[in-house]
Amino acid sequence: MLDTGSVMKKISKHKAKRIFLQIPEGLKTRVLEMARGLEREGLEVFISVDPCYGACDLRDHEARMLGCDLILHVGHSDYGLKSKIPVIYEEFRMDYDPVPLLKNFLQDLKPYRKISLVTTVQFLSSLDHAKKFLQERGKKVFIGSSKRGKPGQVLGCDFSAAKSLDGIVDCFLFMGSGTFHPLGLAMEVKKPVLFLDFEGSQLLDLKDEKRRMENIQLMQIEKAKSCKNFGILVSTKPGQMKVKTAEKAKKSLSELGKNAWILVADELTPEKLLGLQIDCLVDTACPRLREDSRLFRKPILDPRDIEKLSE
Ligand code: SF4
Repeated sequence: MLDTGSVMKKISKHKAKRIFLQIPEGLKTRVLEMARGLEREGLEVFISVDPCYGACDLRDHEARMLGCDLILHVGHSDYGLKSKIPVIYEEFRMDYDPVPLLKNFLQDLKPYRKISLVTTVQFLSSLDHAKKFLQERGKKVFIGSSKRGKPGQVLGCDFSAAKSLDGIVDCFLFMGSGTFHPLGLAMEVKKPVLFLDFEGSQLLDLKDEKRRMENIQLMQIEKAKSCKNFGILVSTKPGQMKVKTAEKAKKSLSELGKNAWILVADELTPEKLLGLQIDCLVDTACPRLREDSRLFRKPILDPRDIEKLSE
């Protein structure tokens, strides 16, 4: 899976000898094999076993404490973070051809002529296959540029590749697996979002699911109106740390007569909040946390929701 030869070429450009290896949870079962391959090439390898959900979680502080001279960050694309030591982002790409699946759903795409294609980093190579296929069938295909990633790529916290096209296209076609990204996208754009699900071999219109999510959001805001004690979640992961947003949220909540505290951790989990008399949370870190409001057993708001508390 990790092409040791090509990675070694990149590492040797930096003359690195001692490296810090970061890997997403889904690839952890293969990390020892990867490290062994690198060690055979004469490198010293330190494996980070902390969960790593994105390149927002770049551990350059830890790497430097361990005397490492390079970070090898596997599975995510460059998030644009600054680091004091070189970082190699080794994306994990799946070479999946979506055309056989797309062929089954051409009828469903009939109402849409201008289509924006989006996906996650693993499936970026699927974009070109789909683009060619759809263009040959008379569709006008758009692949938007992204602030945090490659053209056509979305992250759970960055849908810029789609949002800039919302006024232009007839629909968004998200290709990939898992509902976190396509649903997040549906919540951020006005045009319909269709999800070509590689795992389930199906095409889903997310219209109903979006409505369900909007209702949940409204219910959380309604619940939050009667809450008194708010915890504003801040993560110390470099790409997630939004101190100014948290301070602004605290000020706005105080103006609404609420008590608000800024709560800080690297990984924010329900257990870390045990014992705190908090009845509502505001998430400034990763949007994935909002999916876990049931685990936190309290409403979790987006900072943008605070202004709706006075409506
Ligand atoms: S903040 Fe969350 S959604 Fe954004 S890159 Fe990090 S893990 Fe992914």
